[in-house]
Amino acid sequence: MDSSPFETVDCVVIGAGVVGLAVARALALAGREVIVVEAAEGIGTETSSRNSEVIHAGIYYPKGSLMAETCVAGRRLLYAYCAEHGVPHLNCGKLIVATNQQESELLASIKGRAEANGVEGMRFLSGAEAMAMEPNLQCTAALLSPATGIVDSHSYMLALQGDAESNGTMLAFHSPVAKGRATEQGIELEIGGTEPMRLRCRLVINSAGLHAPILAQKIEGMPSDRIPTAYYAKGNYFTLAGRSPFSRLIYPVPVPGGLGVHITVDLGGQAKFGPDVEWIPGIDYTVDPHRADKFYAAVRKYWPALKDGALQPGYAGIRPKIVPPGAPAQDFTIQGSAEHGVPGLINLFGIESPGLTASLALAEKVRALSGNT
Ligand SMILES: Cc1cc2nc3c(=O)[nH]c(=O)nc-3n(C[C@H](O)[C@H](O)[C@H](O)COP(=O)(O)OP(=O)(O)OC[C@H]3O[C@@H](n4cnc5c(N)ncnc54)[C@H](O)[C@@H]3O)c2cc1C
Repeated sequence: MDSSPFETVDCVVIGAGVVGLAVARALALAGREVIVVEAAEGIGTETSSRNSEVIHAGIYYPKGSLMAETCVAGRRLLYAYCAEHGVPHLNCGKLIVATNQQESELLASIKGRAEANGVEGMRFLSGAEAMAMEPNLQCTAALLSPATGIVDSHSYMLALQGDAESNGTMLAFHSPVAKGRATEQGIELEIGGTEPMRLRCRLVINSAGLHAPILAQKIEGMPSDRIPTAYYAKGNYFTLAGRSPFSRLIYPVPVPGGLGVHITVDLGGQAKFGPDVEWIPGIDYTVDPHRADKFYAAVRKYWPALKDGALQPGYAGIRPKIVPPGAPAQDFTIQGSAEHGVPGLINLFGIESPGLTASLALAEKVRALSGNT
């Protein structure tokens, strides 16, 4: 066992995904000494590079939830940040489309919820108006969300990294945290990898995404009854060859348990379909081509021209769930010492969608909490 002395540091952020990087930047800007330790070879190799890259408006989340609050606040911050830092993004808007009378009636409740969350500019469109905006679309009515957009998530993470580093943050790659221990002098971390380290920290942010619950279990002193179980819900994407038939993002009216098979467009003009929901026992990013079968029927309801064989397996991302299949959706969880009793430890659990959009607002919450934890 390594018996080298512990090096004392102020703050350690575990995980260089979009949320860990945003937190590191916020702490560094607040004048704190920050080290980011990342198991992989670079930034954003897990969920932060396996998502839809949508800047969500904040439409569907329950009023008063952390998701609703940080999505709306984070979205406003993100647009401003992208504009200031030259991060490629596009405020392209989104249409939620109804394809029958029953779905048309649901649009009013979606609009009501969005407005309760503070989402700006939501507008009903007749089928004819929506189809005039998007000639390849077929629908009976739609709801326009002008605040929705898309972002180049890797450029965004690079900008966060640059900001953090220019404010003194150090990033250590190939540095997996193996275990930790809460002591009266701070939290001690044992870090493996190519250059093993032992750090004693005043503040530790567990921003390890899919691995955050497992990592929390490895911190001696962290009460196990405060650690949620990790569940994994894979989202598979299929891509379309050629340019997107739509210029806005197109979402069906949500189905129970998900947003329905929707179309998003990236900044290169390529369309992708998904993500669907596939609960899996462990981390596995393979996309089963047969899952495309279910996509065709769902998409043809609003884009009848979709040709057989047009969909190609794309990629997959995994939602870091903390409740099992069938349970009511869980809000983002930011846990400080008031929740778990360990001074100097903040755990981030269940940071699934809209975590990319919410990242700057989540970072601000963590920074504020770090003063009291
Ligand atoms: C299918 C899908 C689609 C999504 N679409 C959107 C979207 O369109 N818009 C949106 O706003 N949000 C979206 N999200 C959510 C968003 O992608 C996530 O909320 C966000 O990327 C989470 O970032 P993170 O930093 O918490 O986690 P991650 O990106 O997973 O980063 C965690 C990091 O911790 C590191 N790590 C883990 N364990 C250790 C350890 N022991 N030691 C050191 N490092 C460790 C990992 O290597 C990783 O780099 C989507 C998510 C999914 C799954």
